[in-house]
Amino acid sequence: MKVFKFGGASVRDANSVKNVAKIMRKHEGEAVFVVISAMGKTTNGLERVVNAYFRKEGNAFEELEKVKKFHHDIVNKLFPAKHAIFDEVNNTLVEIEWVIEDEPTGTFDFEYDQIVSVGEILSTKIISTYLNENGIKNQWIDCRDFIKTNNTYREAKVDWELSEQCIKQLKLSEKVLITQGFSGCTSENYTTTLGREGSDFTASIVAYLLDAESVTIWKDVPGVLNADPKWFDECEKLHHISYLEAAELAYYGASVIHPKTIKPLQNKHIPLYVRSFVSLEEEGTVINEETTSDSLIPSFIFRMNQVLISISPRDYSFIMEENLSDIFACFHKHRVKINLMQNSAISFSVCVDNEPDKIPGLINDLHQNDLVRYNENMELVTIRHYDQATIDRVTVDKEILLEQKTRHTARMVMKDKSV
Ligand code: ASP
Ligand code: MG
Repeated sequence: MKVFKFGGASVRDANSVKNVAKIMRKHEGEAVFVVISAMGKTTNGLERVVNAYFRKEGNAFEELEKVKKFHHDIVNKLFPAKHAIFDEVNNTLVEIEWVIEDEPTGTFDFEYDQIVSVGEILSTKIISTYLNENGIKNQWIDCRDFIKTNNTYREAKVDWELSEQCIKQLKLSEKVLITQGFSGCTSENYTTTLGREGSDFTASIVAYLLDAESVTIWKDVPGVLNADPKWFDECEKLHHISYLEAAELAYYGASVIHPKTIKPLQNKHIPLYVRSFVSLEEEGTVINEETTSDSLIPSFIFRMNQVLISISPRDYSFIMEENLSDIFACFHKHRVKINLMQNSAISFSVCVDNEPDKIPGLINDLHQNDLVRYNENMELVTIRHYDQATIDRVTVDKEILLEQKTRHTARMVMKDKSV
């Protein structure tokens, strides 16, 4: 069994769905478990529905209408008029309408998962139907029947044992199976999500549970690149990296693979291929045990819109284990992930993503016990396998506020000199 993952960009319009069919045809006769994300930017659209519904930021019905129209347009191009899929799409979306007609009863995170996970139901239903009618027989499987999680909504933790039992009980009737990425299900049968961009992780969970022979993530880039083309003109493809290197890159923020994807694959020695859905002949990146080519090409990871927070005890006492533990508890409480940290005698500095729904609350809380200063609009750049030339390349016209170096990795928090 192989596992394929198609992300939002690879299923963003009718032509890209046809392209998925083309890829699947090349693998005719093979057993493939296909994990699919929501189409295009649907997840962002559904997030706007939740924000409008829960936080009264905009009109939830109007936002939902946009999501509906986007899917109708795709379905119109893929199917004849009056095809049953239109009802299927409408019936799926009407469930959101029922929810948003009433006032929210659960927490924001709970309502978020119930609504936002619908994007993957729509994409998989549409694509499964399209493939079935175009010569690629497949079975749609609801991932909530086997991805079992706890109830930490928006960041659910997988119950591996239960999921393994459940996946083995599925009645599989086709060689090609299609399921939703990103979502899971609690023991009370409420839908959960695994965190933004979580479909890669779903593919890796499925591969782990079924001892798959490989996972392929189909992307709009030719493989894992040494930098995001958004920030860098000349990117190079990493032909081969180890699990370890991939995990480091993902951890530092390389957006090509979700950070949680690697571990399950590494545990079961399942290779991961990252390949282009555009140039199907091109070999992508292979990720496996072998570490020999890891240091051949330096990689650059940029995280923009960072806040550098500096925390000092009000009484000028030293930063010790005790106050560090309070500080960490505060970050944990607000579910803020620390991208980089450093301490001196009387202050502790952290660099975090500037998430508007978390950071003000965090800073407020930290203020209770400590003096807090913060700088916004920072960039955090990480260079793997750096040398002076690569550092010089990224720090032109930048002021460096904080710097950390280990043997393989250099990290800098910086801002434009003009600011
Ligand atoms: N659709 C979800 C998101 O956009 C999950 C994914 O694409 O991986 O975050
Ligand atoms: Mg994605």
